Amino acid sequence: MAITLALLSLFASLSWWFLGFAILVWMTIVVIGSAWIGSNYHVKTHCSNLSEKENKIAITFDDGPSEFTPKVLELLERFGVKAAFFCIGKNVDAHPEIVRQMFQNGHIVANHSYLHGKDFDWKNSGEVLSELAKTDEAISKVCGRKPRFFRPPYGVTNPSIAKALQVTKHDVIGWNIRSMDGFSKDENAIYERIVRQIKPGAIILMHDTSQVTVNVLERILLTLREKNFKIVPIDALLGLTAYEED
Ligand SMILES: [Zn+2]
Repeated sequence: MAITLALLSLFASLSWWFLGFAILVWMTIVVIGSAWIGSNYHVKTHCSNLSEKENKIAITFDDGPSEFTPKVLELLERFGVKAAFFCIGKNVDAHPEIVRQMFQNGHIVANHSYLHGKDFDWKNSGEVLSELAKTDEAISKVCGRKPRFFRPPYGVTNPSIAKALQVTKHDVIGWNIRSMDGFSKDENAIYERIVRQIKPGAIILMHDTSQVTVNVLERILLTLREKNFKIVPIDALLGLTAYEED
């Protein structure tokens, strides 16, 4: 009897341990799948074109337009480079003239949610859908084209975003070179972080929201030119269409 009880309790504790372990593994997978944009866990995401053999690379900017965007546009114009801007809808409404300039200069204008709030990842699919639609509308109003590209705030995806995207049909664009220019103020560190990851088919993520980025961008453009890299827009790099057909 005692032996049976001992065995039972051992089995019970083992199975509790196993259950706890299984839950932990599952939670780890979900957390990584949600936080890592390249995981394709919730939604299919384009983070690079690894089959690109030529020295082609794309530059993307998030969170604008801001007071620093005109300086970024000026630099890109000077180097004859086309980039993509993932704009926050409310910033588009606040600075339509900057977005118009962006579009007229031949850059891609894309959707990066309307508010980019810290609570974005806690919104239900209806709320996400309304943010995406509002930003599409803000961009369409200024550019006359409806964007097909969306980049989720913070690069986080979840079932609500996946559900909203089934309706909006945006292509989700990530990155594979993160500059960390949104956190760091150390220009050299940001520059080095980008340069050591440069490779054919890569997508660089920067933020057109600070003078630090403007300064680093000029150095990056010079270095890419020295290394014989051609900067191409993401639609060309990925073989996708940036806007809805009229
Ligand atoms: Zn962002």
